[in-house]
Amino acid sequence: MIKSSPLFLLLILPEHLQRLFQKGLLLRQEGYRGRFAPSPTGPLHIGNLRTALLSWIRARSLNGKWLLRIDDLDTSRNRVGSVDSIQDDLLWLGLYWDGPVIFQSDRKGIYSSVLSFLRSQNQLYACRCSRRVLTETTIDLTHRRNVYPGTCRNLDLFWGWEEKKLPSWRLKVTKEFEDTCGDVLVRRSDGVIAYHLATVVDELTFGVTEVIRGEDLAIGYLPQVAVVKALQQQLLAYKYLPLVYNNVGKKLSKRDDVSGLKVLRSKGMDPEEVIGMLAASLGLVPKGSSLTALELLYELRLNEKKLNRIFH
Ligand code: GLU
Repeated sequence: MIKSSPLFLLLILPEHLQRLFQKGLLLRQEGYRGRFAPSPTGPLHIGNLRTALLSWIRARSLNGKWLLRIDDLDTSRNRVGSVDSIQDDLLWLGLYWDGPVIFQSDRKGIYSSVLSFLRSQNQLYACRCSRRVLTETTIDLTHRRNVYPGTCRNLDLFWGWEEKKLPSWRLKVTKEFEDTCGDVLVRRSDGVIAYHLATVVDELTFGVTEVIRGEDLAIGYLPQVAVVKALQQQLLAYKYLPLVYNNVGKKLSKRDDVSGLKVLRSKGMDPEEVIGMLAASLGLVPKGSSLTALELLYELRLNEKKLNRIFH
């Protein structure tokens, strides 16, 4: 359904954006840079903590940097106290990060500049598809992905406050992404900058070389690669880790609260036991092990095979 892919033209970014992307590229050349990017929607659950632990180990084992970013743009989902509890939990486990904590809410101006730029290059269009239409037309159950069929791409819709509602904005992807990911949502109709746009701009400007995240976010791989390509920047690496499921086989949610550190701590577990439990759940150490994050790091450094099995 998607027609008229944008032609490939070399983009000339405005100077301030060019400088930010250039700085990111220079940072990338200095060595490995990973990040952990939780949304402050509640306390971290053990699945989040395991992802954090592994991405920390990955960065430290490569003598790299590990950044902490708080994805707090969707204020309706943010929960008071989460930002503190996320930091407390990471530090309690010994997972320290480099540099100041990054808040996406401080970076709205940068995302807006990128959007204005893409729009000035005719790479964006207004989309007025309702949630219902999107659910009916975009879900590709066979491949477990959402592919927007380009319904609004050639309609040239008003972008103003029509029907008391603003449109959302989509990026026109190039041909290679049309069937597999479709035009990417970059700004939601409630004005919130969409996750794919914000996260890609952050990875690029903070010089992230590799993103490690839970398997549930693998659906975002293609849209994010499409955004990197639309900005004509160098690709980075992505790795996806297995999720932790609860005892009824459902993936854990931060909003459940039941599997956070608070509960484990109230049972009297110390950081070493929690690290041991998280590492044992992936077969990295024997069950019942008790060790610090640093000890686990040294252990895995001596046993590269185990580490490579996780990050193949
Ligand atoms: N903040 C999002 C989450 O917690 C995305 C994280 C990521 O991109 O790794 O689900």
